[in-house]
Amino acid sequence: MKKKQIYIFANWKMYLDYDESNIFANRFSNVVKEISKEINVVVFPEALSLYTVGQVLGDVGVGVGAQNVYWLDKGGYTGEISAKMYKDAGCKYSLVGHSERRHIFNETNQEVRKKLEAILSKKMIPVLCVGETAKERKTGKADKIIEIQLRSALSGLTLNAKKEIIIAYEPVWAIGTGQACDADEAERMHALIAKIVKKMAIKANFKILYGGSVDSGNVSAYLIKKTINGVLVGGASAKFESWYKILKTAEKLNKK
Ligand code: PEP
Repeated sequence: MKKKQIYIFANWKMYLDYDESNIFANRFSNVVKEISKEINVVVFPEALSLYTVGQVLGDVGVGVGAQNVYWLDKGGYTGEISAKMYKDAGCKYSLVGHSERRHIFNETNQEVRKKLEAILSKKMIPVLCVGETAKERKTGKADKIIEIQLRSALSGLTLNAKKEIIIAYEPVWAIGTGQACDADEAERMHALIAKIVKKMAIKANFKILYGGSVDSGNVSAYLIKKTINGVLVGGASAKFESWYKILKTAEKLNKK
């Protein structure tokens, strides 16, 4: 029987600078052979180190992705980097709609949609992040917010059953707080996301990951859940020891 793929994605945010990212990538490349091919590993470094990190990790089967893109290819958009430019630099994936983009940089659902379309048009795989704030959860609006974010990003897209789209359920209150979402509740939210996407009748190959204070101590609680295809890890992915432990845990579960 074909084994299920497990997705372990590392969002390095702005935690590692150019030298640190490259040192990490080299160190990681030396141990990556311990990880089976059923474990799909992708790192999202800052933009300046992405190319050299990709050169080192690409050779050992690890993907690289952008943390954010601009939707137009070229032009007078000071400070922006387009999906096309990331693709040319070797990116296969891109995050889109990460909560730090939505809440620190005021990115709207409309902008997320434009970015997602740009990523797809370059034949990259989007990692669409959705999640509710603490206030939205407290007031019973979590499910509705997720539905709004999903519908505005995905409605009406014409894709095909082979097109991979990754959705990361990342509750805002769990990002970088050490307060991870209970695994049973994450599983419920994943089932909800799967149901909404099914209702939208978009032909695509959807995978759903959990993100929010995942570390080596709690990762297995998520990975054993049926509706959870993997994890998107922030803080704990930028420290080599915790990252290595997370991958070893995934590897152990994969071997079972
Ligand atoms: C993230 O930023 O995508 C994330 C999951 O962060 P953390 O693991 O640090 O909560």
